[in-house]
Amino acid sequence: MTFHRTTPAALMAVLSLAACAAQPSEPAPPVPSTPVAARPPEGVTLSALPSGATQSSAAMAFEGGSARDKRTFVTGAILVDHPRGKLLFDAGYGRHLAEHFQTAPALMRVVVRPRLGMTVADQLARGGVRPSDLKAVVLTHAHWDHVSGLEHLKGVPVWVPKAELDFIKGKDPSAELARRLGLSDYQSYDFPDGPYLGFPRSWDVFEDGSVVLAPTPGHTPGAIVAFITTSTGKRYGLVGDTAWQSEGVERPAQKPWLSRWLVDHDGPSTWSALRKLHAAKAAIPDLIVVPAHDARVWETLPRFASETP
Ligand SMILES: [Zn+2]
Repeated sequence: MTFHRTTPAALMAVLSLAACAAQPSEPAPPVPSTPVAARPPEGVTLSALPSGATQSSAAMAFEGGSARDKRTFVTGAILVDHPRGKLLFDAGYGRHLAEHFQTAPALMRVVVRPRLGMTVADQLARGGVRPSDLKAVVLTHAHWDHVSGLEHLKGVPVWVPKAELDFIKGKDPSAELARRLGLSDYQSYDFPDGPYLGFPRSWDVFEDGSVVLAPTPGHTPGAIVAFITTSTGKRYGLVGDTAWQSEGVERPAQKPWLSRWLVDHDGPSTWSALRKLHAAKAAIPDLIVVPAHDARVWETLPRFASETP
């Protein structure tokens, strides 16, 4: 393999060509029936804890994106504070980012340069939240840039679907860091509740509709979307890396072939999940779709422990 010698300029040229590729055609997914009502109690809030970023372009993120359209790919965590427990979605970068980044795909290590800001754990501490105050870390999926910060959250249960735990325990190199950080905190869950917004199964974590997890296998075998409804009625869809930037869900548009090849475990399943997310957004127009790495969306979210949300 010669990927180590590929230059960023050459990669961008390839991606620009790939952006011209046609979207695969298949029947549209069923439109979700009546949007599910949520009954969040008082005190359910959502806030963002960005822990670093890389620079890339729309051409890297979705088909049809331009190489001239520069994008910041943020990485971090989302805290959902519920009267019955605090859930942290993903863990962002840890202090050993440089070492952890060595587990990323070789080609990615050539084209992106992640920069560490303040770790999620440090931001939580600044806001008076100790790791032991967290009910769980809920992973959208187990890739390195979502688990790196777990190094500072030892002892906090890490919730993943059974399929994702099997993925972590297997031999896939993209789950190497999740494996290396230790398996003792992982707890697998099922989706015991019925269909939700076009997804066949779900888990209504607090049984009040405020936090509903649904499987979106594709990017990884146990990738999920988390639908969050806060006490103010705002609704969010934390879609992880099923889409890197919001256009992925809005258009919908899958990642360019090279990005799919680099990071998507199962491209066609990822596309199927994207189309379901697109349909969910159509059913709830005010749903705020939050890709894990779209800095433009993260900038609109309330910031944890900040006086200027
Ligand atoms: Zn990922």
